[in-house]
Amino acid sequence: MQKTSKIWFNGKFVDWSKARVHVLNHTMHYGTGAFEGLRFYNTTNGPAIFQLGRHIDRWLYSAKCIYMKMSYSKKELKEAIINLIKKNKIKSGYIRPIAYYGHGPLRVNPTGLPIEVAIACWPWGSYLGDESAKLKVSRFVRIHPKSTFADAKITGHYVNAMLAVTEATSAGYTEAIMLDYKGYVAEGSAENIFIVKNNVIYTPPLGTILAGITRLSIMQLARDLGYKVKEKKLKLEDVKSADECFLTGTVAEVSPVGQIDKKDLKTQLGPVTKHLKQEFEKIVKGKNKKYYRWLEFVK
Ligand code: PMP
Repeated sequence: MQKTSKIWFNGKFVDWSKARVHVLNHTMHYGTGAFEGLRFYNTTNGPAIFQLGRHIDRWLYSAKCIYMKMSYSKKELKEAIINLIKKNKIKSGYIRPIAYYGHGPLRVNPTGLPIEVAIACWPWGSYLGDESAKLKVSRFVRIHPKSTFADAKITGHYVNAMLAVTEATSAGYTEAIMLDYKGYVAEGSAENIFIVKNNVIYTPPLGTILAGITRLSIMQLARDLGYKVKEKKLKLEDVKSADECFLTGTVAEVSPVGQIDKKDLKTQLGPVTKHLKQEFEKIVKGKNKKYYRWLEFVK
């Protein structure tokens, strides 16, 4: 991670090295943080943040799920992110907002604890690389939607994701794919999944997955480009026999999948994936005016 100059911390800009937490903060012990991940891109009109409003809405939703009352409005959080990018003078990269329960009487119930809010940003290039991803079907099942709010971005959920991705990458794969509690395909450790079959694009419905913002954007973009898009429960067999498969996520963007459990899929980078990837890149880099509504230009 490339360190930048400032972090926004409880309403103030502090030096990167001074944004510290107490070892007894509640979130560290119990996984009770609400966080986000956004990207911003270099465009000819300056840096542009992709889907800022939607990310803040999801952040506030995740916070609400864990009974956190955020003392900042959507407008204030938007401004904080924009000003952070200006302060750090970087043109493209990743933004990590987090809200967590601070330090106080340590017990599982966080009532009464201070709510701390921090936002950092730093440069970050391609995540899964340019080659098509090799997925391992994880032995860990994606968190059960009746155990928690499975569509929210809560820090504790990522123990499940961390187990899956670490198991996969340490065995030489690029990423894990998790099934849900019923055995349907859910998602990667930090990506949603899509397949293409007979020119129709399919992705699992909400319920057991994170409500991905890239997922939503790609579904919209694909429909605008004339593709048929369906949300449908997918079996592993559907994915293995698909014409194409790709992952979406803020960090992974649109990443083709070439293998599952060491078996080659029909394509490594199919034509629909390639088309969506190219159009997505144009949008985030500010080269398609029709989608300026998805960008927040930092001026
Ligand atoms: N699933 C999980 C578990 C994730 O962590 C992410 C990354 N936020 C995604 C899917 C993709 O979501 P988004 O497109 O909003 O980044």
